[in-house]
Amino acid sequence: MPRPAIIFLAPWLLTATTMMAHALGDNEGAADVPLTGDTVAHFASVDEARKILTKRDRFVAAQSPWDRQARLKSAGDVSVDEYLKFVSGEVIAWSDADREKIVDAIAKVRERLRIWSLPFPRQVVLVQTTGKEEGGAAYCRENAIVLPRGIVAGRSAEGLERLLLHELFHVLSSHNAALRQRLYTVVGFSYCGEIALPAELAARKITNPDAPTIEHRIEIDVDGEPIAVVPILLADSAKYDAAAGREFFAYMKFRLLAVAKDERGHYTPRLRDEKPWLIDPAATPSYHDKIGRNTGYIIHPEEIIADNFTLLMLGEEDVKTPKILDDIRAILRQPADKK
Ligand SMILES: [Zn+2]
Repeated sequence: MPRPAIIFLAPWLLTATTMMAHALGDNEGAADVPLTGDTVAHFASVDEARKILTKRDRFVAAQSPWDRQARLKSAGDVSVDEYLKFVSGEVIAWSDADREKIVDAIAKVRERLRIWSLPFPRQVVLVQTTGKEEGGAAYCRENAIVLPRGIVAGRSAEGLERLLLHELFHVLSSHNAALRQRLYTVVGFSYCGEIALPAELAARKITNPDAPTIEHRIEIDVDGEPIAVVPILLADSAKYDAAAGREFFAYMKFRLLAVAKDERGHYTPRLRDEKPWLIDPAATPSYHDKIGRNTGYIIHPEEIIADNFTLLMLGEEDVKTPKILDDIRAILRQPADKK
C-alpha cells in the first residue's frame, strides 16, 4: 500500500504514447501497454478486476476481524465472503481519460526501467476502484495494481510515475521471494518465520495488502541491549467505531514488537510486565540508523525498500543515506538467476 497521508509524511503508497500493442485480452478493445522487457501493463475490465480482488490471496488470509470491520465501516463482525462482495462492488470501469493518463505515466516508467533487467511477471494488471475498499490508497493484489479513481484524478504525471514505480516494486517483490529477502537485508531485516501474535494484538492487527505478513525481524538497540523486533500495525482501539465511520488509517499505530527465539528455535513475541513488549519506533534512534533516512514511510521493510527503489529508478541520488541506494543497485544489477 502506499501510505496513509494522514499519519505518515508520505503513504499504503499514497499518495502511483506511444503504446501499441499486442491487443491481447478482452478489455473492451484497450490495448496492452509495453512496460519493460517482455512485460506488458493490462487495463482490467470490470469482470477481470472483480476476479482478481475476490481471490483469497495472502492479503485476505492475513486479515484480522478488525481489518474487515473497518473496511466495511461495520458495527458488527464481517465474514470473508461479505468482505469480498464489498470489494467486488467497488471496482469501476476505466474511463478513456484515466486510461490515457496512466498510459502517459507508463511511458515515463518504461524509460526509467529500460536500463534494468528486472524479473517482473509477464503481465501487470491495472485495476480501478472507488478507493472505498482500502482507505482511498493505491495497493497491489498479486500482479495487479489497484489505482482508486481519486488518486488517478488528483495526481500529476510525475506523481503517477512515482506511484507506479512504488507499486511496481511490490509486484516485483511478491513474485521474487529470494530477491525480496536479499533487498530486505539492505535495511537490516532478515526472515524469522511468521510471528504468531498474542490474541490481544491479533484482534486489532491492521493488514497492509502490500506487506501482509509479519515474518522479518531487525535488531535494534534499546537502552544498550540488542533486541530483535518485528514491525506491526495495530488499531489503537480494540473496537472499531462504526458510528464515527472513519477510515482504518485514522486508527493505525506503528509499533515494533520485541521477539525472541523459544526453546524450539522459533521466534515468538517477548513479554515485558506480562504483556507483549511494544516499542515506539519514533523513540528508537537505532531503528532509523539501521533502515536509513531516505524515506518517512517506514512501517515495513517492503515499504522502506519500495520507496528506496523508487528513488533509485528516478535517479534521485541526493539522499540522506546513499549507501542504501548503492546496495539496492548492486543487487538489482546481478544477473537474473542470481537474484
Ligand atoms: Zn507500498
